[in-house]
Amino acid sequence: MSGRLLDGTAIASAIRADVARDVAGLVSSGVTPGLAVVIVGDDPASQVYVASKGKACLEAGMHSETIRLPATTTEAELLAQVDRLNADPKIHGFLVQLPLPKHINSERILLRIDPAKDVDGFHPMNVGRLSVGDSTAFRPATPFGVQQMLLRSGIETKGAHAVIIGRSNIVGKPMASLLVQDTPGGNATVTICHSRSRDLPALARMADILVVAIGRPEFVTREMVRPGAVVVDVGINRVVDPAAAKGYRIVGDVAFAPVREVASWITPVPGGVGKMTIAMLLMNTLQAARQQSGR
Ligand code: NDP
Repeated sequence: MSGRLLDGTAIASAIRADVARDVAGLVSSGVTPGLAVVIVGDDPASQVYVASKGKACLEAGMHSETIRLPATTTEAELLAQVDRLNADPKIHGFLVQLPLPKHINSERILLRIDPAKDVDGFHPMNVGRLSVGDSTAFRPATPFGVQQMLLRSGIETKGAHAVIIGRSNIVGKPMASLLVQDTPGGNATVTICHSRSRDLPALARMADILVVAIGRPEFVTREMVRPGAVVVDVGINRVVDPAAAKGYRIVGDVAFAPVREVASWITPVPGGVGKMTIAMLLMNTLQAARQQSGR
């Protein structure tokens, strides 16, 4: 068997087209959804990511602002930016790109963001709303993207045993929250594993749907996957490869080729979950604009 590809590139572009259509409708009713991204310092990976968010926003017909602040910005100055964006009616959603310089307390910044504009869905208010099944909650982009990939590929989550490896606040935990809800793309039986889980291979083999988000290159081997399982690889890891033009290549947390032989569906890396994140951020910004404008 060779697993079918869960094609993040194609699914993300379909979602972006849907968002652009809905944005056009809102714009014609007088509301242009606006997203702002704040970046502090000049981390090269974050700069690339922030530039892609801005470009995607404009392509979707949204208003986009990027606020670039020097690495020397104080916590008070960043809090003042957050306050300004909280009050800006042109901005329906915004996020502060992580990681922040060490002298800034990320938690204090996050808590200052108006939950109604928290399109990353990391504010405890949104985490709580998601957990109680409130549909106005913003769903964190990466796990939301995974759920959309499953839904749009016709993969049934209802009654399935979903095993998630990784319990971070940005991927593993919200993934569990989404899959367990009584909604389409939910109703799964969920197991969350982490570095202290006993006999991880046995737990992984129990999965109908295996979601892996640990940040360890090719950690999940063929022996850890039940034949016929759906495998979603969230990991993005750089590994040294002298044969590659850049001297490295990107791999996921799953050993793709051998696992594909037993899986029914599998996400490639790159071209899988990573492609979904920005599309879901746009969807959240559209949701924010609708919720704030009542349209
Ligand atoms: P974190 O480092 O925050 O969390 C990793 C989790 O994996 C932790 O819960 C940790 O357990 C668990 N873990 C680590 N090693 C093992 C192990 N050997 N066995 C079992 N569990 C283990 O990572 P993130 O969730 O932020 O990211 C995970 C991966 O996903 C990374 O490769 C990241 O680059 C990628 N990513 C991709 C995104 C995208 O596609 N857009 C977005 C976000 C992340 P414990 O808690 O016990 O330490």
